[in-house]
Amino acid sequence: MIFAFDLDGVIYAGDELLGGAVEAVATARALGYATYFITNNSRQESVELSVKLQSMGLDVAPREVISAVETAGRLVSQIDGPPQSAMVIGSPSLREVIGKSGVRALSYDDTDPIDVFVLGLDHAINYQKLLAAHRVLERANVRFVAVNNDVTFASEGGTVPGLGAIVSAVSAAAGRAPDFVAGKPEPHMFNRILELEGAEARELIVFGDSLYSDIGGAKAIGARTVLVLTGVDGREDVATAPLERQPDWIIESLNAIPFAEIAGAKS
Ligand SMILES: [Mg+2]
Repeated sequence: MIFAFDLDGVIYAGDELLGGAVEAVATARALGYATYFITNNSRQESVELSVKLQSMGLDVAPREVISAVETAGRLVSQIDGPPQSAMVIGSPSLREVIGKSGVRALSYDDTDPIDVFVLGLDHAINYQKLLAAHRVLERANVRFVAVNNDVTFASEGGTVPGLGAIVSAVSAAAGRAPDFVAGKPEPHMFNRILELEGAEARELIVFGDSLYSDIGGAKAIGARTVLVLTGVDGREDVATAPLERQPDWIIESLNAIPFAEIAGAKS
């Protein structure tokens, strides 16, 4: 069996580890389960995230972290063509990862021809960058890859505008949506785990706090799901959620994982 934990709202909230995280991961590993940590974070790569987790007291290797940043890099490398150059608007880590995926990663003010446009959360987004994005998206042959499409995300002091808000601005102006979105609820990160483990979807248990991105995304590929009530969605959200976003289990925190029940319900 494979346990995949969403990070924000499940493993940590901001810079604080949530209750039961260390014990849950330790118990899963003691049972012989593979553990993965998945995140739509569009600014940090696996190594940075594993360092953050380790600094919080959770021993996680970079290979166990499936981030939307690296997933975007893989999507770029799989585009037919193959693409030669990508315009990247986003964090330095995103630019670096895209550069390693086999294309030249160019800045928004570079005048060279562009095959792919990759958009991650850029804290210094401005009109010049929106204009540059608009110009490249006017060309129908340029593929548009968004690292995630989350319009907001939780931060200290409440929700803040997410990459999805910028994707919406760019898409509205250009009249086209992203061709590929790396993050959840799209299946790419979940499928990557199955590929790495050589496993079937039924062997994958996804722990998430979002009915839309974690539970909905994981159910769509046939994985089993656990809603953890330490993040965005509560029981009242479950009550109104459609069938395709209903979790198999609901737990108050990672302290309350029904290990025996999950193992027993295996097939
Ligand atoms: Mg989350």
